[in-house]
Amino acid sequence: MDIVLLGAPGAGKGTQAELLAEWLSLPTVSSGVLFREAMDAGTPLGRRAKEFIDRGELVPDEVTVDMIAERLSRPDCANGVILDGFPRTVAQARALEDLLGRMGRQVDVVAYIEVPTEVLLQRLSGRWTCSQCGAVYHETFNPEAVEGVCDSCGGKLVQREDDTPEVQRRRIEVYNERTAPLIAYYREQGILSEVDGDQGVEAVQHDLRAVIHAARS
Ligand code: ADP
Ligand code: AMP
Repeated sequence: MDIVLLGAPGAGKGTQAELLAEWLSLPTVSSGVLFREAMDAGTPLGRRAKEFIDRGELVPDEVTVDMIAERLSRPDCANGVILDGFPRTVAQARALEDLLGRMGRQVDVVAYIEVPTEVLLQRLSGRWTCSQCGAVYHETFNPEAVEGVCDSCGGKLVQREDDTPEVQRRRIEVYNERTAPLIAYYREQGILSEVDGDQGVEAVQHDLRAVIHAARS
């Protein structure tokens, strides 16, 4: 199964993708995580992406699509993937159709996680990420057991450089301009399911599983 998680920055895509991955035994493919890995490694891709990420802008489509194409070609993606943060533009959605089409696949379900803007800002400003395994926490809504230490791997928790108030606001604007049109795009294809993301992590996961279950049968 190929699943797209759609939603604004802070909607909970990364958090939910990890839980779905465990349930479905599928890999998560997160464009944001792949860019951050490339930035940490200081590769040419990472240096290129950083220029855009630091400002809250989208990385150009061709750079992003090439990175995702390479990731999807690996053997662990052969039975399907959970996409988090990709596609983010209509051009990326079309490129994804081509990529999956060449493998005899298609997007089976797009789960749109809907969260009001004021909640997004609260979530982004309290987000802490493990510097080693990438696990995501929130200082109020989903805190770690020992302050500053990842529950899963013991790594140090850090705040993302693009989680400053100014960049957060820009990312939400960019989402509204460039990514929100995908809601109508996928609705027209009849594969969009809406999930109320303004609930606790477990309730959102429950609703996502129901939507995926319905799409499978
Ligand atoms: P996205 O990948 O969509 O940007 P994240 O999964 O990183 O979003 O979540 C953003 C922040 O909100 C994190 O700090 C996370 O712990 C927190 N969070 C995620 N889901 C929920 C939820 N349902 N309720 C409250 N906080 C949440
Ligand atoms: P995320 O981890 O999903 O919040 O993404 C962090 C940043 O990476 C975004 O603000 C963008 O600058 C960049 N990015 C992630 N995914 C994409 C994408 N599909 N297209 C373009 N830029 C992206």
